[in-house]
Amino acid sequence: MFNPTAYKNIQNFCQEKHVQMLAVSKMRSIEELKDLYASGHRIFGENRVQELLSKKDALPNDIEWHLIGHLQSNKVKFIAPFVRLIHSVDSLDLLQEIQIQAKKNDRIIDCLLQVHIAQENSKFGIPKEEILAFVSMLPFNNYPNIRIVGLMGMASFVENDKQIAEEFAALNKIYKTLKNNIFKNFEYFNTLSMGMSGDYELAIAEGSTLVRVGSKLFI
Ligand SMILES: *Cc1c(COP(=O)(O)O)cnc(C)c1O
Repeated sequence: MFNPTAYKNIQNFCQEKHVQMLAVSKMRSIEELKDLYASGHRIFGENRVQELLSKKDALPNDIEWHLIGHLQSNKVKFIAPFVRLIHSVDSLDLLQEIQIQAKKNDRIIDCLLQVHIAQENSKFGIPKEEILAFVSMLPFNNYPNIRIVGLMGMASFVENDKQIAEEFAALNKIYKTLKNNIFKNFEYFNTLSMGMSGDYELAIAEGSTLVRVGSKLFI
């Protein structure tokens, strides 16, 4: 069930800090999403393409849809016509496919590079030790239909706030380095997507500009 009180509290907190809130609607029913929509929210995120498509069909079309989960190249074509921001770009192959599909749709698609900052092993995200080299070698000229607008990361699933804060701080450091160097002349490089239900306050304290909050919006 949608929890309007929790929603308002989190939304107010984010607004005070000038941070955007993405409502993560994965695994929630259409009814729950309609309630969220009725409260005025318009920025929704899903981690699976199929689920995103079926929800988009069932909801009003002024919603801004973000893809936050791992994206397979062969699914890019389904979201390319409308997706507002892809948070999970972590390979050249994926960038290449997004370029192809963005061009086909005559769009410019905004993307974040996903950086692996957590302790846990994960197949997803560019390792933080490699991100600067990855960006330095990007063939930007090959991607006229893509804007890389920032970075996304997920902290470790631990109780230790200090560790989580350190991981977010490390990501912010990489973000600032890129912003002040390779992306210096690109004003649109302005998005640091970090923080979820359990750690969005820590993430905001460490410089997040966009939090992805799911479970805490529901009962
Ligand atoms: C599910 C998910 C979230 C939201 O997680 P909650 O803990 O439910 O807030 C944020 N980001 C990604 C990438 C997710 O998959």
